[in-house]
Amino acid sequence: RDLIPENHPRRESLLIREKLVEAMEKSILVPQGLIAHGRGECFDYLIGEKTQSFAEKAIEVAAAMLLLAKSPVISVNGNMAALVPEDLVKLAEEANAKLEVNLFYREVKRERAIAEVLYKANAKEVLGVGEDASATIPELFSERRRVSPRGIYIADVVLLGLEDGDRTEALVKMGKKVIAIDLNPLSRTSRTATVTIIDNITRAIPKLVLKVRELKSKSRQDLIQIVSNYDNRKIIAEALRYISERLNQLSLSL
Ligand code: ATP
Ligand code: MG
Repeated sequence: RDLIPENHPRRESLLIREKLVEAMEKSILVPQGLIAHGRGECFDYLIGEKTQSFAEKAIEVAAAMLLLAKSPVISVNGNMAALVPEDLVKLAEEANAKLEVNLFYREVKRERAIAEVLYKANAKEVLGVGEDASATIPELFSERRRVSPRGIYIADVVLLGLEDGDRTEALVKMGKKVIAIDLNPLSRTSRTATVTIIDNITRAIPKLVLKVRELKSKSRQDLIQIVSNYDNRKIIAEALRYISERLNQLSLSL
């Protein structure tokens, strides 16, 4: 960390990489998590490494949806625990949501390491660790996924980041509303989710905390209004257009 110069143009991104490598050394992350992050970085580059308006809009709808939910759950994997543990705990508190460890490569040791990170960040309760993940969700290719019967299994709204397409689809098929944070507007997760926040989790989760805090004072009617006219396809289209126009501009300014 000390080796990265203060004025390095990619300092932020390099610090994030360091955090992920550290998390891998602590068994919070598997090597596949690093690869997933690399794919994300590429799309972050394309959107200019900033939260763009398509993401701001999705964040507002996501905040309203979380506040309207009966049993909202925040699904946490290694990348999320490594990068934004404090904000995940704050979000759970503000939105009255549960935190559940939910891994693609399930392993009790890693579930515990992730729960530990969240408890250190002041989480009250973390679901989905070991025996707690006793309910199953039918999935297409992977083994039947285990989730907590008190969490994702009964949730009406699930927020997730860096999720696999089949798994997102399985949740949507169960009738759940899925809020996905995914930098790639073309991923299956992005295309199947109810609300897709096309942004980096490092920016989107803190912004979501602020938005939930802000919308808390609104009436249910106002929140329903925010959610009702939302069309996720428009948001994805907007992101794709933004990227293509940005690349076009850049090509002209060379
Ligand atoms: P899908 O299975 O949905 O088609 P995929 O197979 O392309 O997606 P996965 O490796 O399953 O991708 O999931 C990782 C996803 O998370 C990628 O779409 C990647 O762009 C995204 N991602 C990686 N790092 C971040 C990050 N820091 N913030 C937000 N999204 C990220
Ligand atoms: Mg995938």
